[in-house]
Parts: sequence; structure tokens; C-alpha cells
Amino acid sequence: MATDFMPTVPVILGTWPTPLEPAPRLAQAIGLGAEDLWIKRDDLTGLGGGGNKVRKLEWICGEAIARGADTLVTCGARQSNHARLTAAAGARLGLHVVLVLAGTKGGPENGNVALNGLCGATVAWAGDVAHEELESVASSIMEVLCDRDARPVFIPYGGSSALGARGYVEGGREILAQMPGLTTVVTAVGSGGTMAGLVHALGSRRVLGVDTGALVHPAEVVADLVASLAGLPSAPEELRLRVDHVGAGYGELTEAVLSALLVAARTEGLILDPIYTGRALAGLVSAVVDGQIQPGERTVLLHTGGLPGLFGHPATVSRAAEQVTEFHLG
Ligand SMILES: *Cc1c(COP(=O)(O)O)cnc(C)c1O
Repeated sequence: MATDFMPTVPVILGTWPTPLEPAPRLAQAIGLGAEDLWIKRDDLTGLGGGGNKVRKLEWICGEAIARGADTLVTCGARQSNHARLTAAAGARLGLHVVLVLAGTKGGPENGNVALNGLCGATVAWAGDVAHEELESVASSIMEVLCDRDARPVFIPYGGSSALGARGYVEGGREILAQMPGLTTVVTAVGSGGTMAGLVHALGSRRVLGVDTGALVHPAEVVADLVASLAGLPSAPEELRLRVDHVGAGYGELTEAVLSALLVAARTEGLILDPIYTGRALAGLVSAVVDGQIQPGERTVLLHTGGLPGLFGHPATVSRAAEQVTEFHLG
């Protein structure tokens, strides 16, 4: 029977393990010792330009295929990296992809929006709405697809189901194998699945989340995901989650994030993005200032990807361009 040959969970979509690289110049620039800081390069996961959603999509797509799905439906912000990587995963696996995105057609077609087009995804623009609203548009689309005899599966916002978070249970174990003596892994928190998987693998004391403002109640969402991974209740108060870098809200560039982007690029040639990884580093810098992270400890900054989103973020592009120093002859 054909189904005997169907992969169950997960399918391989990325390139593993991703590198864990030292960042001595960045470490010293932010007040740590040269050997204290390492970058886990989950921006180098391979598929579709890379990023953290690849680990989640391996589990989610594995199950979708096992269930006989032919279409992936998901939703996100206009510049969603998750949507772009779902488009790439669908292309790789021969599945149709429908993306329900916030915003309207006719806005800037740059960054992730352009990559969605290259990967052949169908986009439904939902207007300027919150992500709960995106999910309700997506469920109407699911019904229409079923009426047309498609076999769609819905992937929640950011791929942050308990199933998707298993990608970061594995990711956490991969980091631990590369650095058994680690003290803290720092990650940005968007939809919460990345932090939840890391907490399951490493314990809540070894994970520091930096909220990006994507969720109204991030600690509760992460704790619920941790609980469903463990099959046990989990308390939001036990999580180490910084909420001091949300600034004016998700997607809004702050001066601390711009400084983080500059210091990473100028010490290590490491490019971060303004929404997620720049906030993660800004949170790490604050944690060093507060003494929450100390010199002599082994700290890992999780680079979750997001480079296309930088090009889709006009404020960052123009602030970056202002940083160019011109050479004047004479
Ligand atoms: C989605 C995303 C995150 C956040 O991960 P969650 O699991 O949604 O919390 C971090 N960085 C980048 C680049 C992302 O695209």
C-alpha cells in the first residue's frame, strides 16, 4: 500500500546540525569575556533562505503528509518568515500553499513577499487585522478548499503548535550536545514555540526569552506549549522572559535594537533582523547590564533567521543606509 512508504513525523527539510560559532568580539563589546558567547546559527537551516521555522515545519509537514494532505494553509504578518518558509516547504514537498497575510495587495512587494512569489505560494490579503482574525479568514479558506476537493491542513500562527515546538525540543538537544556546559540560551519570542521547545529540552532556568510583542500574553502561551509538550502543567512565572524590548510594539524599530544590529554586524559580520534577532541581542545586552547574565558563563544566542524581513522593513533599511561613512578625497 502506498501509505506504507509515506514518511510519518518528521520529514527532513533542513541541514543539520546547524553550526555553533564563537563570537569573541561581540562578547567583549557587550561586557562578556571573549569565550562566553556563542551563536547558534539556525539562520543557516538551509531551506528557503533559512530560519527557525524549518525545525517546526519538519514535524508539521511530516504529519500533514502522513495524513494525506495536498495543501498547506497558514497565516502571518505581511513580512512573516514563517509564511515564507511554509511556501518553501510546500514547494520542496510538492504541496500547494495558501498564505493568509495581514495587509493589502499593492504595498511593498519586497523581502518575504517577493520570496513567497518565487516559491509559488497563493496569497490571500486579509487587511490590517490581528492574528486571531487572520486565523478566522484562514478557516473560511480551509472550507472553500475542502469544497473544491482539496485536502488542506492548517498550520497555526508561527507554526507554534505542540507538534511544531518539538522541532525546538530537538534544537535544544542539539545545542546541548554542542555545548554541554551552557548556562543560558537567549531567543526571541514571537509565537512562542521556539522558547517552549527549548524550555522542554533545557529546563526553564537555562532559557531566556526576549519578547517581540507579537502576542498579548506571551508567558501564558509559552507555558501552555511547555505544558502540552510535557503532558504536565507549567507555570508562566517560572519562565525567564524579558518584555522590556517590545518598545512601541511588534515590528517597530527601537534604538536599542538598532544598536544591537550595528554591534553584531561591526564586530562579527553577523547580520540580525529588526523584529526578532535584533531584539534577542538587545535583551541579552540588557541582561548583562542587569547581571542576569554574567561574564564567565557560557551563553548561546539563538540566531533564528529573518534576513528577508530586514529588507522588508523600510525604517531599518533607511537607518542602516544613514550609517554609511563616505570617503572624501581631499
Ligand atoms: C518566528 C521567528 C522567531 C520567533 O519564534 P517563535 O517560535 O514564533 O516564538 C524568531 N526569529 C525569527 C527570525 C522568526 O521568524
